[in-house]
Amino acid sequence: MLTDTIKRFVGQLFGQRSQGLRRIGKDKHGIDRRFVSRHAIKVCEVLQHEGYQAYIVGGAVRDLIVGLEPKDFDVATNATPEQIRPLFRRARIIGKRFQLVHVVFGQEIIETSTFRAPASESQSTDGHGRILRDNEFGTHAQDAARRDFTINALYYDPTTEEVIDYHNGVDDLKHRVVRMIGDPRTRYREDPVRMLRAVRFAVKLKGKIEPATKEPLASMAELIENVPASRLFDEMLKLLTCGQAMECLTQLRQDGLHQGILPLLDVVLEQPGGEAFIELALDRTDHRVRSGKTVSPSFLFAALLWHQVDVRWKKRVAAGEPSIQALMEAADSVLDEQTEKLAIQKRFSADMREIWFMQPRFEKRLPKAIWRMFEQPRFRAAVDFLQLRAAAHQFDSVLAQWWMDLANADDSTRAAMLEDLSKLPRESSATGPRARSRRRRSPRAGTGASTPRTPTSDAS
Ligand code: ATP
Ligand code: MG
Repeated sequence: MLTDTIKRFVGQLFGQRSQGLRRIGKDKHGIDRRFVSRHAIKVCEVLQHEGYQAYIVGGAVRDLIVGLEPKDFDVATNATPEQIRPLFRRARIIGKRFQLVHVVFGQEIIETSTFRAPASESQSTDGHGRILRDNEFGTHAQDAARRDFTINALYYDPTTEEVIDYHNGVDDLKHRVVRMIGDPRTRYREDPVRMLRAVRFAVKLKGKIEPATKEPLASMAELIENVPASRLFDEMLKLLTCGQAMECLTQLRQDGLHQGILPLLDVVLEQPGGEAFIELALDRTDHRVRSGKTVSPSFLFAALLWHQVDVRWKKRVAAGEPSIQALMEAADSVLDEQTEKLAIQKRFSADMREIWFMQPRFEKRLPKAIWRMFEQPRFRAAVDFLQLRAAAHQFDSVLAQWWMDLANADDSTRAAMLEDLSKLPRESSATGPRARSRRRRSPRAGTGASTPRTPTSDAS
């Protein structure tokens, strides 16, 4: 009897060992507590004070260990959402599929979730094995097992300053290896987005995807088609704003994963002109991200899809359609194709249209029209977009700089610039003799809105 108990105890002990539970001290993991969000520490302390387990988990721990600045801080605990919420002044329970708590401190939100059980038969899946619902709370070890990669299953206890590591993630992190927890095929089937995440983390860490984790990528790529468009959009956005967007796209292509993510991106990347523009756009985005500036999704997607819009716009104008109408039709057809697969939300696509539709209006500098352009909320973004086109030799760079100076100027400088402009002879590219004589009679005519014109990109 006693020997049975001892055997079980030893078995459990070895069972736990074989799972690889490690407590890693500060000297080994090297996390400097000063770089940890004090709000995340506070959440852990409050929960621990109440007798619960609580750790900082996921991307923040991974990034802190390799010396990157975490985007945000998440906490994992064995307290349930109902137990967590009353412990904080500003906390709300969110989520349908799996409830978690947002603990709010001014601008910072600490996402606090209860340990979850991993994929099991109790979860409902679609025909391809993708998990549709999972609402089971679990133990700490189970929570670690349901996370995607070993490097993402690390738990930092701010009180002891130890990292709890069930899957040898710290070691993988030191070697910059992205390794799936469990059987990669099963885990990709459960959630195909993990394939895109594998690539993103490998690029971010300047590391490698472990062979068994990498092997199924190309053959399972088509499962990405089953992912809801809104999720794909979120992941795509993370990928494009991670600071190494071009490397991510290149890697996705190498791993056979790029197709079907942004349907037109496939086409664009195959076309020489398209690729150059996208590279330029992503390069600028990466620079912004790396220097801590924000990136607007609308601007980014406007840039990614511009080449297609531009090609279709030119075609329509060449067929005799008025320029603005042609541009609108081109934009609609491109956006329609994209939204089928990738839910570019309405608020983004509305902004993208504004950015695009302002482009022909930069061709001529008519003071009255310019005053109206200032009123457009996307004026600044459209001027930024113009710089991109100038860099791609689609627009005169001196003129693009003038617009930039105007956008940056204060009111009195703007007025002076427009005053100077009105003293200049009419720009030849803007007005022909007929248009000029028409404008004299009616100051509103010839603002460009309805004049058939060739898109500027023809000038390149
Ligand atoms: P980043 O925020 O820098 O993109 P992250 O690792 O923090 O990276 P999140 O999407 O914020 O990524 O997710 C937080 C954590 O949740 C991850 O570190 C991982 O442990 C877990 N996780 C996220 N997505 C998945 C997934 N698809 N499958 C399993 N675990 C996941
Ligand atoms: Mg995160």
